[in-house]
Amino acid sequence: MSADLYAKLANRLGPKGFATDAADLAPYLREWRGRYEGQTPFLALPQSTEEVADIVRFCADAGASITTQGGNTGLVGGQIPAGEVLLSLKRMNRIRSLDAANDSLIAEAGVVLTAVQQAAADSDRLFPLSLASEGSATIGGLISTNAGGVHVLRYGMMRDLVLGIEAVLPDGRTYAGLRGLRKDNTGYDLKQLFIGAEGTLGVVTAACLKLFARPRAHEVALAAAPSPEAALDLLQHMKAATGAVAAFEIMNRLSVDLVVKNVADRRDPIPGAPYMVLIEFEGMSDLGLRESVVEALDAALETGEATHVLLAENTAQARDFWRIREDISAGHRPEGAQVNHDVSVPVSQTPAFLAAANAAMEKICAGARIVAFGHMGDGNFHYSVMQPEGMAPDQFPGDELTQRVNEIATTMGGSISAEHGIGVARVTDLARFKDPESIALMRTLKAAIDPKRVMNPRALIPD
Ligand SMILES: Cc1cc2nc3c(=O)[nH]c(=O)nc-3n(C[C@H](O)[C@H](O)[C@H](O)COP(=O)(O)OP(=O)(O)OC[C@H]3O[C@@H](n4cnc5c(N)ncnc54)[C@H](O)[C@@H]3O)c2cc1C
Repeated sequence: MSADLYAKLANRLGPKGFATDAADLAPYLREWRGRYEGQTPFLALPQSTEEVADIVRFCADAGASITTQGGNTGLVGGQIPAGEVLLSLKRMNRIRSLDAANDSLIAEAGVVLTAVQQAAADSDRLFPLSLASEGSATIGGLISTNAGGVHVLRYGMMRDLVLGIEAVLPDGRTYAGLRGLRKDNTGYDLKQLFIGAEGTLGVVTAACLKLFARPRAHEVALAAAPSPEAALDLLQHMKAATGAVAAFEIMNRLSVDLVVKNVADRRDPIPGAPYMVLIEFEGMSDLGLRESVVEALDAALETGEATHVLLAENTAQARDFWRIREDISAGHRPEGAQVNHDVSVPVSQTPAFLAAANAAMEKICAGARIVAFGHMGDGNFHYSVMQPEGMAPDQFPGDELTQRVNEIATTMGGSISAEHGIGVARVTDLARFKDPESIALMRTLKAAIDPKRVMNPRALIPD
């Protein structure tokens, strides 16, 4: 029966539209860090929504399941198949249209984020989503994981940037919700079902995205903050004083030390700072932005929110400041056994989270080294705990540390996954830490829309 299905799929897609050879499949079956390795009998590479609809219908009718993949940059393994048909949207990579007067653009699911940013810029607009994987991550993947990145503070997450969606449902029908409306109160906001669904409710084939006016002025500052409390005060102060904060990223001492140690040609811009904060400001005109930023930072030095401040003199220096932040993952990856977390708490709770989590880690594993960094302006920490120096990696109590971090975040009203999603990596944690009513509602939705569990059957929803 499977052979019949694969012959039918191949016939529908044509010779360029599928692959079954091991060498052709290999790049799709391995996650970039090597944490997930998968397998598939058939890789489908459709080029149109009609082809996607037929592939999904053929699979559903044959009782086969599908894993969908975009740029394969996801961090929780949901895009790697374990025997399912693999559906890659890579060849659906056209920007279908741009409506400048509506400040919107329609892109197919396989368009890479940088191509959308460029199309917006070519039209003197901004598409504000920005993250380190933007050269490979696709619109379909970014929607399906509700991606965040560094500008959430000003523009919101992917959920806030989507006006309409076209998606193929698990039985092969097409949800034609590709509208560009900013106001539409005609019932449930169905496009939201597919945003953050990690491919479990259908295949996103295209989206209408919001564009914004392009900022004309940027300033980037690095500030030394004596404590997380001071950093939180600094955030509130900068927002109120300038109205222009677009990113507010925190880095603890060790995160910067490990960049300097493990990444070539990096130096510490403010040696000894207990916490370093990178602040990006955006303005719609050159007039006055730098002056108001300088005034606000001077005031922060007086109040003690910051003990030292560097304001980038030019674009190259601003890039250097950002590189420290972007290299943090590369900096601590070589440091032995470690567990990484992507938690969020209300912004007001960020100092309390760090204090409680740091103390708990030390209690469970004396000498554990902590790299705490990320989007403090959104209450989101990438909180990594590494083995003490000299400890045998198999002695490191990673699971216990992770459970404690998750417990502390959820006790503070937070989330165990702020922006990377659940995938296959965190399904067990979701079952433990999300409230039972929400899990039940998610199961009800999945059963109603995908009763045969065709779409990404191992991801997101606990069995
Ligand atoms: C260096 C690096 C930095 C990162 N930084 C951030 C960050 O700052 N913020 C952040 O939020 N994420 C970040 N990520 C995670 C990742 O880039 C995002 O999750 C991204 O949205 C995934 O897009 P993708 O096209 O690669 O999707 P994939 O990895 O291919 O897939 C991700 C999930 O979406 C599903 N999916 C993909 N396409 C579709 C579709 N068309 N229809 C239905 N389901 C689909 C897959 O089945 C899978 O469950 C980072 C990743 C890397 C490698």
